[in-house]
Amino acid sequence: MNERQYEIAIVGAGPAGLTAALYSGRALKRTLLLEAGIPGGELNNTEDVEDYPGFASIKGPQLAATMAEHALQFGAEIVTARVTAITPQPDGLKRIDLEEGDPYLAEAVIITAGGHPRKLDVPGEEQFAGRGVSYCAVCDGAFFKGQHLAVIGGGDAAIEEATFLTRYASEVTVVHRREEFRAQPLLVERAHQNGKVDFLLDRVVEEISGEDGHVSGVRLRHLPSGELETLPVGGVFIFVGFLPNTGLLAVHADHDENGYYLTDANMMTSVRGIYAAGDVRSQLTRQVTTAVGDATTAAIAATKQVEEERAQRHRPVPVAVGGT
Ligand code: NAP
Repeated sequence: MNERQYEIAIVGAGPAGLTAALYSGRALKRTLLLEAGIPGGELNNTEDVEDYPGFASIKGPQLAATMAEHALQFGAEIVTARVTAITPQPDGLKRIDLEEGDPYLAEAVIITAGGHPRKLDVPGEEQFAGRGVSYCAVCDGAFFKGQHLAVIGGGDAAIEEATFLTRYASEVTVVHRREEFRAQPLLVERAHQNGKVDFLLDRVVEEISGEDGHVSGVRLRHLPSGELETLPVGGVFIFVGFLPNTGLLAVHADHDENGYYLTDANMMTSVRGIYAAGDVRSQLTRQVTTAVGDATTAAIAATKQVEEERAQRHRPVPVAVGGT
């Protein structure tokens, strides 16, 4: 095995990737963990985590750092690099191409590359990105002290982050396209009880407008009536879902209608030796707990596969006895 070849390579060091690295390293497999940014993934953009067993409440970046330190104790090597392609080779190895530097090879790959925020795709969104339009409350909230903010979306992220933003904003208006919320009732209840949060329901964003190069308002359409109104705000935080980073695999793998990988019970995709865990995988919910659970299964299954294939390669070829 050359120095750029590993038994198990893991792409993405969020909670799923870190867990896979822990289990793979602990199983004494030569393990490579590739991450383009800071280990911890979306945890680094989360203020408080209060649904991870063992921690009644913990800061996202603190949980990320604790997980990273723990994961790397067992020998996995972490390399900072952006993966551009994962390509199965005719001999069964997987080639992992990087934006810079030589490719790596691995006997099995676990894709834990997470996702990125879905865009609204409305006029003004791109123009004012970073100038009043944000997709991360923890990263950007402090820039909006004393301002009225709009939060777009009705899922867990929107409702949780709307509440979080009230520590800086004078008022936070949640704009959601329906009357029912996808978010957990507990989070909705908490937002309702927060005197700084109000709701505009049955409304979609038509445009994000600005003045002097910065967001000054959102133009909304009330869906039942079709009426247009402008909400003057200093910032717009968009939380309308997540898109999985599933573009790395250079061959087709089965996926659901939203692009998330379909896996078997061992977290293997339809491509042999390619596993998926965390936010790239089709599942009921995307929680830190489900990510670490699925990554555990993926790492153990990948370890078994690597060991079985190795045993097969080294099995003596039976010698025919007798006959002519
Ligand atoms: P999500 O659950 O998919 O919710 C997206 C929200 O955006 C939905 O309310 C959706 O409306 C709305 N939306 C989608 N496209 C839109 C558009 N073009 N215009 C207006 N609204 C639009 O996404 P998420 O909140 O980012 O959460 C992603 C995953 O992470 C979920 O599994 C969630 O449970 C998990 N998460 C969990 C926590 C936690 O447990 N504390 C925190 C954050 C995220 P409809 O409802 O009408 O479709």
